[in-house]
This record gives sequence, C-alpha cells and structure tokens, in this order.
Amino acid sequence: MRPCLAPNCPALVHPPENRCPRHRAEADARWARRVEAHRDGQGWRAFYRTDAWRRRRAEQLAREPTCRSCGTDRRLQAAHVGATPKEWEAFIAGPLQTLCIECHARSRAAENWRGGR
Ligand SMILES: [Zn+2]
Ligand SMILES: [Zn+2]
Repeated sequence: MRPCLAPNCPALVHPPENRCPRHRAEADARWARRVEAHRDGQGWRAFYRTDAWRRRRAEQLAREPTCRSCGTDRRLQAAHVGATPKEWEAFIAGPLQTLCIECHARSRAAENWRGGR
C-alpha cells in the first residue's frame, strides 16, 4: 500500500495504482482533456505521458511479465495489439501485449508506424 499522490489525501492505494478512486477520476479527466486537445495531431505522444497510460502499462507488465514474441523478461514494453495512433479508441483503450524493446520495434516497423513505448 502507498499513499495517494494527491496532496493531503489520506487514502492508501495498492500499486500499480497511485491515486485513490476519486483522485484517479480527476486525473483521468485531466488527461482526457489534454489528449483531446491534441487529438488530430500528436495526441498519442501526450497519451504516453499520462497516468492512465502508465497504469495500463504497469498492469500489462504485471499480468504478462515476459515478451510475447521471444520470451525474454528484459527491457519489456507494453505494446498495442494492432492499433495505430490513428485508431484513437483502440489506441487509448484497446488490448495490450508485452513485448521486449527489440520485438516491439520490429512489430512497429511491420505495422509501418513509429513512436510510443
Ligand atoms: Zn486521493
Ligand atoms: Zn522479444
């Protein structure tokens, strides 16, 4: 257990959560506004800096702690399954897989887009 990140909040949360439900909802609303503001441009870059993404990433790596492609447990990343930054809904909420940095780079090259982590 660790304390909620919000200043002066007494709630304790289970990692990888870092905020209590109320402050998580506030943080999610903030990132949704920020991402929405960039939706037509580089919004996906902003998305990778959000708590919502960090949480999804941590949950994915906890659920699947080895690379789905080669089986290594080093240098892992949470990767979108099929989604590209143009498919916005899938990009934000779609399924993830665990890949190591090398396999992730290969799969992105195959899908013909670059960026993210
Ligand atoms: Zn809180
Ligand atoms: Zn791999």
